[in-house]
Amino acid sequence: MSGNKSYKSTCSYCGVGCGIIVNKDSKGNLSVKGDPDYPVNKGMLCSKGMNLNYVVQNTSDRILHPEMRWSRNHPMEQVSWDSALDRASAVFKSIIKKHGPDSVGFYVSGQCTTEEYYIINKLTKGFIGTNNIDTNSRLCMSSAVVGYKKTVGEDSVPISYEDIELADCFLIAGANPAWCHPILFRRLENHKEANPNVKIVVVDPRKTQTCAIADLHLQIIPGTDVVLYNAIARRLIEKNKIDKKFIKNHTKDFESLKEKVYETSLSSAAKICGITVNEIKKAALYIGHSMRFISMWTMGLNQSVIGVDKNVSLLNISLLTGQIGKPGSGPFSLTGQPNAMGGREVGGMANLLAAHKDLGNPEHRTQVSDFWGGKKISEKPGLTATEMFDSLNSGKLKAIWIVCTNPVVSLPNSLEVEKALKKANFVIVQDISHNSETTKYADLLLPAAGWLEKEGTMTNSERRISYLYKGVEPPGEALPDAEIIARFAQKMNFEGFDYDSASDIFDEHCMLTKYTNIDISGLSYERLKNEGSFQWPVPSIDHKGTPRLFEDKKFYTSDEKAHFNVPKHTENQSEKVSKNFPLVLTTGRIRDQWHTRTRTGKVNRLDTHIPSPYLEINGVDAFERNIKDGDIAIIKNGRGEVRVKVKFGYDIRKGVVFMPMHWGKILDNDFGRANNLTNNLIDPISKEPDFKYSAVEVIKF
Ligand code: SF4
Repeated sequence: MSGNKSYKSTCSYCGVGCGIIVNKDSKGNLSVKGDPDYPVNKGMLCSKGMNLNYVVQNTSDRILHPEMRWSRNHPMEQVSWDSALDRASAVFKSIIKKHGPDSVGFYVSGQCTTEEYYIINKLTKGFIGTNNIDTNSRLCMSSAVVGYKKTVGEDSVPISYEDIELADCFLIAGANPAWCHPILFRRLENHKEANPNVKIVVVDPRKTQTCAIADLHLQIIPGTDVVLYNAIARRLIEKNKIDKKFIKNHTKDFESLKEKVYETSLSSAAKICGITVNEIKKAALYIGHSMRFISMWTMGLNQSVIGVDKNVSLLNISLLTGQIGKPGSGPFSLTGQPNAMGGREVGGMANLLAAHKDLGNPEHRTQVSDFWGGKKISEKPGLTATEMFDSLNSGKLKAIWIVCTNPVVSLPNSLEVEKALKKANFVIVQDISHNSETTKYADLLLPAAGWLEKEGTMTNSERRISYLYKGVEPPGEALPDAEIIARFAQKMNFEGFDYDSASDIFDEHCMLTKYTNIDISGLSYERLKNEGSFQWPVPSIDHKGTPRLFEDKKFYTSDEKAHFNVPKHTENQSEKVSKNFPLVLTTGRIRDQWHTRTRTGKVNRLDTHIPSPYLEINGVDAFERNIKDGDIAIIKNGRGEVRVKVKFGYDIRKGVVFMPMHWGKILDNDFGRANNLTNNLIDPISKEPDFKYSAVEVIKF
């Protein structure tokens, strides 16, 4: 049809990062399909990606104009962009003057493009003079980041999706890719179907859809992962199924790990984990016999008060077997969000610096502040996600600017988050949709452009940087997030924010990475548009990208060796179950919803899969409480309660219950918001919350 236009983009939901072709017909109607030439998904899309066109075209929920209120007693009123940003800069200047730069903070999102992350990070650390910028990626990948740094010296995922088809054994831990990374799972499923000898081990307290292709499901007691991976390590050492040459030449601290794992017998480990000795032996047998072994993991490991320990104990297995830096092998953390990795590349977190430089290193801080031409960067790490809201509650943090995320639903202990926002002196919410429950706490509401309404780049789970085309105009007065921040910076009289386009920001970011391990100085929008996506590093303009890291067995540590790490805690440090709250609540995603449903919730066909929040409970636990399938139950603890329908079955361990994390307040009584119940504990190093372990009781309504 004449007037048709096509745009290439990547899906804006999960970290798989599927390539999409968007078609716009002469009437402006959009349709989407998987890009058959894109190396990630080869034309496939899951239900969420397939329906992205409806999300863009249905603008009924969109924030169309800046809105402001003069005090909490006043209603919001529409204002011009100039008035909105004048107010924002006046309030920020006055708070900073009175209480110092650490009295303000930015809370952003793994849904932001790399350019948006870059400019907000530059504004906060380089010009306002505080490191108080954190992101919802803190809730997702920060334990994996620390695990990589401790093991290979830097936050570096070593492998690619193409390694999936080369591997002969997988250990999938604390992840349900069948629902949460569906296209990656489809590749895994196809590989297993074509090669039935491929072994798949799944570690999860729930028998999820991923278990359908598993040769072995280790249904462990929540929180016992470290004990399990140490036991597997012990068995591999005992059976001499380790790569001694690799360990001798390329690793450090093997003996310390060996000593640690020998402290616990296989039978004790099996008892602690709630599985059998034979199951541990079988997992070790599969891994030990494998020629090419991949471990995959997500939130079951990361979202834990011992998330770093869980990560390093799993990473140790790749080192023991020498399964890293070669085709079809390596550790593979699956990012939850489409650009969680891009955010880390530009240092968009409270304890990071741009270009993977080190906030704790004075030379690195000087390099970045000189490059930006702003203030000296503070050596004090900023407030992380949960710390920011705790600080609002204690009154130390006065103002918060929330970009593209809905913390009222997604942060743990939601009732405290709501209290914090009420207590804040000033709250700015910059988002696309009124569907976000956080918007109602805004003193200033700024309309942002969404996916397909702006250009930018994102990095997926395999370090692949892709360019996102702009295909439609944003509705109303909505602006790209980077432009909003640049305009604000100019109102603050900061220099260095007069970018002509997102491409200028990207070029600046690329330049800053030169000579680092994530060097992408060979990239530009032109190359991304003409040649497609690239996996970093891309250090020169003729470089084709790097599918696999550490093939030379030189790691990013100071001695170039990979380091074994002895987990500090083997026992879980979560809150304890008790007589009053005897069940462990774990939370997670379902197949057709994304985060807090601000986008997927407006696509009817996605709601048909699972239309409302629910509690999954083991049949024995339900029977003991006189609860039947379909009953409404109250789930409660000292922090709050929710009421949802019960799904009763035997796929979940006795003593464990599960709720999806997507739903917010449906009624005033908080029907369905799982985070009313989750606790405030965080991993002491990664500061990632303990979403997977909260003590609750369930009673029939
Ligand atoms: Fe989008 Fe992830 Fe589905 Fe791919 S697998 S279409 S990136 S949600």
